[in-house]
Amino acid sequence: MKYCYKEISSRSKYDKLQIKKCHLEMGHTGSCSEFPFLEHLSKNFKRISDKIKRDSTMTTGAAWKSEDAGPNRILRWVMLASDENLKKFGINMENLKDGVVAKLREKAADYDSCIQVAIKLTWLVYQMEGAPKCPDNIKEYLESHFGEMSNITTCAICLDKIGFDLFHTAQRGKANLETCHLNPRMHDPMNVGFGHRECNIAQGNKTLDEFYEWIAAILTRSKNT
Ligand SMILES: [Zn+2]
Ligand SMILES: [Zn+2]
Repeated sequence: MKYCYKEISSRSKYDKLQIKKCHLEMGHTGSCSEFPFLEHLSKNFKRISDKIKRDSTMTTGAAWKSEDAGPNRILRWVMLASDENLKKFGINMENLKDGVVAKLREKAADYDSCIQVAIKLTWLVYQMEGAPKCPDNIKEYLESHFGEMSNITTCAICLDKIGFDLFHTAQRGKANLETCHLNPRMHDPMNVGFGHRECNIAQGNKTLDEFYEWIAAILTRSKNT
C-alpha cells in the first residue's frame, strides 16, 4: 500500500527525531490518521488499541524511574539516536548501567517497523476466537498488508489457540496476553505475535528456536531418568 505519509505533528519533543506520518492510503478523503487500522478498536476496546500502540512503539524498560535504571518506557526509534543526540533530550546514556543500555538499545526499532508491527498485531487481534467483527474497510486494509484473515490466532510460542477474552483477564495486575518476539532482539512484523504470559516468561531472552531446543533437551533427559 502506498501511504499518504503526510506529517502529523504532535506535542512530543521527539518529533524532531521522527515526525509521525499518516498511514491511510494515498489520495484518501477525510483527515489524516497515524493508526487508521485501530479506529474501530480504539472506539470499542480502547485498552486493546492502547496496548497495540504501546507495545509496537515503546520499549519496555525498567518498571521504575531512577538515575541508573533508565527511562521507563521510551519510543523505540528514540533508542536509535546516538548518545550525543540523546543528551539534547535529557537522556544521559553514560549514567545508565551497561546492562540497561544494552537492553534499551536492543529494543530499538525504526518508526516504519513499529507501524508495521502495530498493523500485524491488529490483524492478529481480529482473528482471535471471540474477537469482534472487523469492519470491512479495516479488514481490507489489514489483509492488503498481511494476507487473508481466518478466525484462529495461536500463541506465537506454544502454538495453542488464544481467545480474545484473554485480553480481559489479568492476574495480580498482569495481563494474560503479551506481545512476544520470535527473536527478542528483533522488532519487525515477521517477528512479533501474541503469546500467553506464561509462555513469554518461559521463553525469556531466548529466540524461539533456542527455546524449543531447550524444551526438547529437557524432555529427552526426563525420559532417560
Ligand atoms: Zn493522510
Ligand atoms: Zn502459549
